[in-house]
Parts: sequence; C-alpha cells; structure tokens
Amino acid sequence: MSEVRRQVALPPRPNLAWQDAAACRGTDIVLFFGPDGERQPERDIRERKAKLVCAACPVRAECLTYAVSRPEKYGTWGGLNEDERASERRRRMRRANAA
Ligand code: SF4
Repeated sequence: MSEVRRQVALPPRPNLAWQDAAACRGTDIVLFFGPDGERQPERDIRERKAKLVCAACPVRAECLTYAVSRPEKYGTWGGLNEDERASERRRRMRRANAA
C-alpha cells in the first residue's frame, strides 16, 4: 500500500538566539507592553523607561529587525514603539523597493 505524503511549505524558523543576550531578559514585561487601559501620560513614561533599557541592549538591531519583519503590532521592540516601528517598516520597504 502506498503512502501519500503531503508536503507543506513552512516558513523558515527564525533564529532567536539573540534573545539570550537581550537586556530586557528578566524585566517585567509590562514595561514593554503596558497594561490594558493605560492612559497616554503613563504610556509615555513607561515607553521612555523601556527605551532606556533598549538603548543599552547589545541585540537592539536584531530585535528591531525581527519586530519589523513580522506583524508585531504591540509593544516596544528594538527601542521603537508601535507607531515608530510602522514607520521603520515602511522606510525599509521603500529602501528595498528602490534597490
Ligand atoms: S532591544 Fe529592547 S525589547 Fe529588544 S531585546 Fe533589547 S531590551 Fe529587549
């Protein structure tokens, strides 16, 4: 009896080894994603604190590249918040299309 195999093309798994060196390892995740119902003034303060951690992170570039290459809609990644990442994503797409 023959066996029919289906092959599904899965996207390559991202290499997440850079996360081992992340400066945010062990910090409270709320600092990077914020609580539900957060008001803008508190959000601004929280994001500033998160960005300070990111500024000293040795894998900031890897983190940002990871975040802008996937639909990470929320949180602070690579030192950028959601809106800033959306701008960065568009900038990278424009650069790639111009090449
Ligand atoms: S850049 Fe920021 S969010 Fe990304 S791994 Fe480093 S500390 Fe964490």
